[in-house]
Order: sequence, then structure tokens, then C-alpha cells
Amino acid sequence: LLVGSLYLTEIRPLLEIGGHFSQVLSSVDKIEEILNLEVFVGGSNNFPQNNTIEFNKVNFSYTGEEKILKNINISINEGQRTAIVGPSGSGKSTILGLVARFYDVDSGEILIGKENIKSIDYTTLLENIAIVFQKNFLTKESVFKNITMGKDYTLEEVREACKKAQIDDVIMKLPDQYDTLVGGHDTRFSGGEQQRISIARAFLKDAPILILDEATSNTDPENQEKINIALNNLFIGKTVIIVAHRLSTIVDCDKIIVLENGEVTGVGKHHELISKNKYYSQVWDKYKLSRDFSYGKGDIVEE
Ligand code: ADP
Ligand code: MG
Repeated sequence: LLVGSLYLTEIRPLLEIGGHFSQVLSSVDKIEEILNLEVFVGGSNNFPQNNTIEFNKVNFSYTGEEKILKNINISINEGQRTAIVGPSGSGKSTILGLVARFYDVDSGEILIGKENIKSIDYTTLLENIAIVFQKNFLTKESVFKNITMGKDYTLEEVREACKKAQIDDVIMKLPDQYDTLVGGHDTRFSGGEQQRISIARAFLKDAPILILDEATSNTDPENQEKINIALNNLFIGKTVIIVAHRLSTIVDCDKIIVLENGEVTGVGKHHELISKNKYYSQVWDKYKLSRDFSYGKGDIVEE
């Protein structure tokens, strides 16, 4: 489904930003009609104490025809980092979208702390999940507002988040610093800077669960190094699910889930999957080869 030039999957994350239909959304025609409002049902306002996320026999299809996820049984342990890897189109981003209820499962269930996410009030659910997606949404407002997304934070708090996200120095060099309008000549943020802005938002939100869709494109090494530092800061003490494309991100994860054609074909740590998972070992071999031949500093594992 296309709205303007955005796919519905790309619009759904906007919901997370303000928690409600904010001014960000009002520019998109008929947004309420397009988004499935049945998710805004009431429910428990208490978010589960335990943040372990479980998928039990989850099946999902966007169209009702092609099955995208087939009998997914996985658990993402509280306080740990879980990576989802696999070929393009295998359903990785779809898994993230289901956790935030951008869509609902066709059958099976998703639990957080043993509680079905459908029984948690949707606003409460989104308040407890920070989302860092590849695509970043910047509006023609001040940098400050782009980071707070209309919520009440002090400049001090925002700067603190931006420092942790390795972006404060970039913003402080803008003509009006945090008051600089986004979209002008001086505020063309690079891809890596945009990612750090979205990481700053996540710092500010300080939700216990983090879902991230890592960028598939390489940024320059200096930018990447800053992103790595920012993410490592952000991950501390959180339950993290990351759709990962970089081996440097993946190897450090507590658990790696291999998804191929909508099915889980492997679960384990890096050293386990190298020996027991065909897809993973091929990716690893290719990575080593590219490194040996100095093809570049990138370590993107998915083409
Ligand atoms: P990955 O993140 O592993 O690349 P995705 O979860 O994005 O895979 O997509 C899995 C499959 O679902 C792909 O075949 C993709 O084309 C399809 N898909 C993704 N989003 C939509 C959508 N909004 N409507 C229909 N099909 C979709
Ligand atoms: Mg994806």
C-alpha cells in the first residue's frame, strides 16, 4: 500500500514518534483511514515487568496470500541483544513490525513477559519500545523539536541524549545550534548523522525495549565508528532486537536468529552458527574473503 511515496510499513513507525497522530502525520492525507485503527483498543496500562519477548507459532501474511512468516518460535531474552539475520526479503523487518504491532499476527501469539501484546494498551506498548529504523523522519522544524518530537524535555536533557548519540557536536556547529531549522542549506544531515539523530530520540525515550533495523548501506568509517559507539551506549541495560547487516554488530550479540524465506533456520551464538548453519557460514566465509582481499572496510553481510 502506497501513500505518496511511502509504503505503509514506512508510515507505521511515525506512530511511534509522537505516540499519537502528531503534526508529523497531519500532512499525509487520510492517514487515519489508511492505518488500521483497530490497534488503538484499550487494554492493560501496566507494561509487563519482565521484558522477554516470545513468538509462539507465529504466522503472518501481508496480503492474505503469500505467507511471509511461517511458524516462528523465538524468544528474545530480557536485557540481552538478539540479532536477526538472513537474506533480503526473508521477513526480518516484518518481525520488528509485529513486535510494535504495526501489523498483527494471523495466528500464533507474541508475548512480552508472558502477556499477549494484544492485551497491552497500544500507547503503553509503544511507550515502552524505542524504534530506530533505517529511514529517519525529519520535519521542517527546529533540530530540537525533531529530537523531542513534541514531548517536554529540557535543552539539557536533549543535549545529554545527543552527546550519548555522538551528534551533539554536529548540532552545536549549526548556525542556530538546536534552534536551527531542519531542511535549510546548513541542515542536510548525512545518512550517518540522521541515524544518530534517531539514536538520540531513543536515548531520550529511554524505553526498556529497543528495536533496530540496521542500515544496509555503508557509511564512511568515521561515521560508522560514531554510530557503533552510540549504539553500544544505547544498548546498555535494554532488551534489544536488531535486524543486523554488519558482522561487527552481529558477533557481539547474545543470540543470533537466522531467518530464511520466513522460517527460522538457525539460532545460536556466532561460533555455533559458523559450524552449524549453512547460510551463516557462507556469509562468514564471504566476509573473511572480502577482508582478506581488502575490498573495503564495509562488512555488510546482506546484498
Ligand atoms: P527483510 O527485512 O528480511 O528484507 P521484509 O520483512 O521487509 O524482509 O519483507 C518480507 C517480505 O514481505 C518481502 O517479500 C516483502 O516484499 C514483503 N513485504 C514487506 N512489506 C510489505 C507490505 N507492506 N505489503 C506487502 N508485502 C510486504
Ligand atoms: Mg528489512
